[in-house]
Amino acid sequence: MFEQTRRSLTRYYTFATAALLTSFTILLFSALAWFLYEEEKLEILAFANEEISEHLPLLLQGSTSFVPPPLIGESNSTEEEMQNALRMFSFIQMPGGEVYNLVTLPNEVVVWATAEIKRHDLREPRIFSYTFANGKHHRVLLAEKLIVHEGNILGKIYVGKDITFLLTILKEMLIFSLLGMLVATFFIFRFGRTAANKAMIPIEQSVIQQKRFVTNASHELRTPLSVVLTGAEVVLSDQKNNLSSDSKNTLLDIQDEIRKMSNMVSNLLTLSQMDEYSLPSKKAIDVVAIATLSVRKLLPLAEQKNITISLEDTSPITWQIDKDDFAQLLYILLDNAIKYTPSDGSVLIFFRVEKNSKKYLKIFVEDSGIGIEEQERELIFERFYRVDKARSRQTGGSGLGLSIARSLAEKYNGSVKVSSGPGKGSVFCVTLPE
Ligand code: ADP
Repeated sequence: MFEQTRRSLTRYYTFATAALLTSFTILLFSALAWFLYEEEKLEILAFANEEISEHLPLLLQGSTSFVPPPLIGESNSTEEEMQNALRMFSFIQMPGGEVYNLVTLPNEVVVWATAEIKRHDLREPRIFSYTFANGKHHRVLLAEKLIVHEGNILGKIYVGKDITFLLTILKEMLIFSLLGMLVATFFIFRFGRTAANKAMIPIEQSVIQQKRFVTNASHELRTPLSVVLTGAEVVLSDQKNNLSSDSKNTLLDIQDEIRKMSNMVSNLLTLSQMDEYSLPSKKAIDVVAIATLSVRKLLPLAEQKNITISLEDTSPITWQIDKDDFAQLLYILLDNAIKYTPSDGSVLIFFRVEKNSKKYLKIFVEDSGIGIEEQERELIFERFYRVDKARSRQTGGSGLGLSIARSLAEKYNGSVKVSSGPGKGSVFCVTLPE
């Protein structure tokens, strides 16, 4: 139980810290990327304004004063010339549609930019991709601005800036951060384990104290209970006592209740002593022989209700398990099968050895009893849980049997499962791995 809790806590701490760190990194990265992008946008718009103020006098004089317009269709610039040109460029489109350079600009830039501009709305600066002949992509931020003077539209200015370097840096930073996160996860896991160990200390202490208390209380209760039981037996068996039949019945009831109480106390003691850290002492035993013995022990109880109790096959099966643990586990299931099966019913035990990647022993205890509703099938394994409290009281049940059975199976990394239906009997199956 402790180990499981420790593992879940480690998982929880690791996940929580890693999630927090990842969110923080993503947030920080997004904020930085957004900030740098906004800066670039502001810069390119400022550049457009500067260009307008610089060239406004020329524009007012007429288009002939500009650098000659580009020759559409011609493309003979080198890659280096293109890269230099893309760094920061601007050109003007007149209201008539003709394009003029503000500086000497390779024809390809203007052709590409005007084509992109035609296709997109550039009220907000946007990133476009320019592909070189060798397949290399450059990311260019493009923007447009109307040139207005005294209410007249003189044309439009287009500006562009190559931001490939910035985007590459951001991409590298992201990869670097993710790699950093991977390394950090290792340290976070170690931190999670340490934190889980620390958190477990008070829990472990309190559980150990609780266990110690139950063990001591059960020990202390055993002696007075057996004294009261023996006392009642002595009074009942003393022939000299002229007890009325009422007093006799009361004493018999007391005896019965004390027996149930002793039973519960020894069950509690068993549960509190089940130490999960102690390795089970396994020994090769014939489990079928133990089952035969258990059947013999319980035969008188079954006969009282005219219940037949039998083993499907008595061929020996050797399995590594502690003899007492196995006997106790089987006894609980058989005792329940008899308790919760009405008169004239039947109880059958059968074994199967299965082999997948591992070898498993399966022990089935099948009865023709009252059965269990679907919603109760998991609950019955909880401590002190009884489906019908009145009925369990009559049969002397305390609701601890199945939780002991499950703990015993889990001690060997096994399990106990039930398949049942109301009025259709039940089949309890214990699975024990090799
Ligand atoms: P109890 O001492 O009450 O039998 P258990 O833990 O052994 O406690 O069982 C819990 C409850 O599960 C029982 O009270 C009973 O209602 C139900 N139960 C157990 N075994 C059977 C069975 N073979 N058939 C029907 N009900 C069962």
